[in-house]
Amino acid sequence: MTSLSDLPIRDDLRGLTPYGAPQIDVPVRLNTNENPYGPSAELVADLASAVASAAADLNRYPDRDAVALRTDLADYLGHGLTADRVWAANGSNEVLQQILQAFGGPGRTAMGFEPSYSMHPIIARGASTEWISGAREEDFGLDAEKAVAAIEEHRPDVVFLTSPNNPTGTALPLSAVARVLRAAPGIVVVDEAYHEFARSGTPSALTLLPDHPRLIVTRTMSKAFAMAGTRVGYLAAAPAVVEALLLVRLPYHLSTLTQAAARVAVAHRAELLGAVDRLRAERDATVDWLRGRGLEAADSDANFVLYGRFADRRMVWEALLAEGVLVREVGPPEWLRVSVGTGEEMAAFRAAMRAVMEELL
Ligand SMILES: *Cc1c(COP(=O)(O)O)cnc(C)c1O
Repeated sequence: MTSLSDLPIRDDLRGLTPYGAPQIDVPVRLNTNENPYGPSAELVADLASAVASAAADLNRYPDRDAVALRTDLADYLGHGLTADRVWAANGSNEVLQQILQAFGGPGRTAMGFEPSYSMHPIIARGASTEWISGAREEDFGLDAEKAVAAIEEHRPDVVFLTSPNNPTGTALPLSAVARVLRAAPGIVVVDEAYHEFARSGTPSALTLLPDHPRLIVTRTMSKAFAMAGTRVGYLAAAPAVVEALLLVRLPYHLSTLTQAAARVAVAHRAELLGAVDRLRAERDATVDWLRGRGLEAADSDANFVLYGRFADRRMVWEALLAEGVLVREVGPPEWLRVSVGTGEEMAAFRAAMRAVMEELL
């Protein structure tokens, strides 16, 4: 049988492993930062009827530019945004891929400050863009002056800032984003996948858009919006950035059904975002509980908590799994990340952690 290494695959893909958060069917799944609350019966009915009416037109291609959805998303974001400044695709991962196809590519570089979202370097590589790894501080924050020095040294074509950061939960002050924007020679992407979970008073990089034509702010419906299965991500930027993305996107990339479902979700945002306060409270309680048990837990502005430290995190991960609780082995070597679930799920997480600590630590 032909193995991968026998195929004439691109040299820069040889020996790589694919993204692979385990999808394991266990009672308590706290590993991919999904919102644990599913849609209400009423919302399911509205989704079904919108999909049913859209289905009558499935012989036709979708609106290639998803104008109605982009208008709805611009409206949701506020900040005076309009459809021509918003772009949508199949998850913010596809948005990020399109950004790299347009602004990265062979001979170009992208830079991020790690630990951060593991998909940024993977998407960069897929787009033949060399990845440059910058560093965050001990406390997972970004030292703006050091970041600027690294940017001036490497002159990356695309800079990624993730705020709140995954997997650490750390939000960046706008002053740091503005400092990076002034230093960066190319595009700056602020990945705000978790913005809705940030503690109040945490401003969005959207406020910087009017003065920064090379800034792109990305968002997703996968987390706070509780629509991970729908696959919709989006961005806000200058209209010229959206024009650049039109050059690389596949025609009709966002299906009629996806557009219809996403529009219903945006219309029901009060319900979908209604759990955010509960999840924030549960997050803060989780941080306190872990610290109370003598563990370290990073301050979080997202719907997950990075905690440790464990000399052998794999052993703790496996022991938790044996208790029916799936967390994520990600980030710096001695840490684990737990997504914030329902109150019941977090009680199960605490019980499992207690058992594992008595047994192993
Ligand atoms: C989850 C996540 C995304 C979202 O990906 P989708 O493709 O929209 O589901 C983007 N950025 C970060 C940092 C994330 O953690």
